[in-house]
Amino acid sequence: MMNRSIFFLLLIPFLGFSQDTLDFDSSFLMGKKEGLISKNLGLLPQVEMAFLEMQKAARKDSIELKIVSSFRSYAAQKRIWNRKYLRFTNEGLSPEKAITKIIEYSTIPGTSRHHWGTEIDVVDAQPLVEGDVLLEEHFHDSGPYVKLGRWLTENAATYGFELVYTKDRSRKGFFYEPWHYSYSALSVGFLSTYLKEKLIDKIAIDSSLQGNSYLSKPFMDRYLEENIKGISTQLKD
Ligand SMILES: [Zn+2]
Repeated sequence: MMNRSIFFLLLIPFLGFSQDTLDFDSSFLMGKKEGLISKNLGLLPQVEMAFLEMQKAARKDSIELKIVSSFRSYAAQKRIWNRKYLRFTNEGLSPEKAITKIIEYSTIPGTSRHHWGTEIDVVDAQPLVEGDVLLEEHFHDSGPYVKLGRWLTENAATYGFELVYTKDRSRKGFFYEPWHYSYSALSVGFLSTYLKEKLIDKIAIDSSLQGNSYLSKPFMDRYLEENIKGISTQLKD
């Protein structure tokens, strides 16, 4: 079943991508170029349109999709990284262990999919949840987001969104994130450019990045294989 608005939405990424493809260069892919991102929801305009369609559909099923996190700049990701690094090392972890703990859920600045304007961390605004909303347990058993999780599993792909960090045991890298969806019509191409341009090699040379001397070439190679490529097969070309 495909109504007219969905058909139109499926066309947009192809139109948008061919127009803007030159703007999606390495500084954009590393979160250092914010101009293309819509200020409204922190997404690329075509992703925002697709999200609003999905939000409208979810509303009919009594789910109020609320974006908790969308675009994050390199600078913002670095603040998150540095804060966690200092906290974990102050708690007594070695630099290596602190980095291993950070990359359970957080990315090294310059490697986040949230730099692309194609990614959303999404919850249901209806059941009010205290404290950290992005916890796996909220999406299972009798958690507040069980209905949301089921709805997204069944419907997100219709609007172009795919789960990134799936519950697949053969997948390495970041832990399962039932809240993180990606607009695949754009992000598949972004990832393949990211890999082709070897942007990972440009990361560690930021002296204001805490622990950067531990981001060795072997470490970064493994991070690339396990974390950056450790995503749903739906998001790889
Ligand atoms: Zn996320």
